[in-house]
Amino acid sequence: MLQSIILQAPAKVNYRLDVIARRPDGYHELRMIMQRVNLCDQVSIKLIDGNEIKVSCGREGVPDGEGNIAWKAARALLDLAGQPSGVEIAIQKNIPVAAGLGGGSSDCAAVLLGLNELLGLGLSCEQLMEIGVKLGADVPFFVFQQTALAEGIGEKLTPLTGLPPAWVVLVNPNLPVSTAWVYKNLQLTQRERLATIPDSFEDVASICRVLSNDLESVTIPAFPVISEIKDELIARGACCSLMSGSGPTVFGLFDDEATARTAGEALRGNNDWFVAVVETV
Ligand code: ATP
Repeated sequence: MLQSIILQAPAKVNYRLDVIARRPDGYHELRMIMQRVNLCDQVSIKLIDGNEIKVSCGREGVPDGEGNIAWKAARALLDLAGQPSGVEIAIQKNIPVAAGLGGGSSDCAAVLLGLNELLGLGLSCEQLMEIGVKLGADVPFFVFQQTALAEGIGEKLTPLTGLPPAWVVLVNPNLPVSTAWVYKNLQLTQRERLATIPDSFEDVASICRVLSNDLESVTIPAFPVISEIKDELIARGACCSLMSGSGPTVFGLFDDEATARTAGEALRGNNDWFVAVVETV
């Protein structure tokens, strides 16, 4: 039986993030279009003797051990397996932390998928998504592994097929933006919502037509640099630009690699920022 596995855990961007309502349990009812990009953490999972779960990451701001969401994923599957086993997880972190790119949720999903394999549990995608949503609202999306319309708190997923590929320039200005703070300060408005998601998207410009993130109404007034980065991306040839998730990472969509790379190079000139030129996957 396979004893170890190495998985690539991709980041995501939100092409759309509508906050529909506040729920009594503190979560928010959302409507999101979620797209994976090929900026990946590398998650190595190994079965070991004993019954301990070890998680190492070595990145400031990310807990090793029990506080890591990957640890919680391993605990959940080992409890289900009912057979004692130890697990060692090493995360090579390439996705910026607390950046709106879903890095922790993606690591968590990678452990669910990897351990399902290593322990021979045979759990279905739906079952793994059910376990995942208890660990984090974005985890089911990363278990699903497809571009999706995500509703509920993020757990009701419908595949969105046929979205054209795009080049994506990610710019993270390294600001401390807490997701909890963003939602706490959000004023829900009754503005008109996109009634339906179009059936087909012909090109990157057609993706641009649905781009919108309600959470920008909180982050941009507090951190105007987010808006400046959006403008800079457009000035460098992006078809459109938006903040991802609760930020502060901003992304620009490009329909060609050369323009995306040139824009990335120009934005890299600012040493405080993390810049990556990636593709949708
Ligand atoms: P989202 O877009 O889902 O809001 P995010 O990209 O903003 O996610 P993450 O990078 O997933 O945020 O991390 C948020 C917090 O979770 C961090 O403060 C970090 O301490 C904690 N955390 C626990 N495990 C991990 C992990 N494996 N990777 C990153 N952060 C983790």
